[in-house]
Amino acid sequence: MDQGNDVPSRCLARLQLSAEETEWLTNRPHGAHEVPAEQCCHLEMGHLDAHAAMAQQSKEAEWWVRWTLSASEIVVMAGCPALAPTAVDSFGDPLLCLLYLDHPGQHSFELAPRATTRQGRTGD
Ligand SMILES: [Zn+2]
Ligand SMILES: [Zn+2]
Repeated sequence: MDQGNDVPSRCLARLQLSAEETEWLTNRPHGAHEVPAEQCCHLEMGHLDAHAAMAQQSKEAEWWVRWTLSASEIVVMAGCPALAPTAVDSFGDPLLCLLYLDHPGQHSFELAPRATTRQGRTGD
């Protein structure tokens, strides 16, 4: 447990969506993303409440998948309005929290970046 700094880590929980759920989310009106079947929790490690991942978004809405050990649901939730006090993105705009309104734990810009890449672990 000697990480050398105090940046909170992200929850490691993952959820596999069914083909029907993936298709439904991908086909939301004005959806911005093609939805991957595997979703990772966006919240802080050790958070309260259900795990949550934003699976799809449009200008009007964000669709979040929330899950526990026994159940999962897809819900529309409003975005968290918090802005980072100091950090900016590559365009010089303040970083916006990417979580939902009233989420548990730290804002997304306060969490450590994900260590894994799109390809997952390098196995060779
Ligand atoms: Zn979680
Ligand atoms: Zn937030």
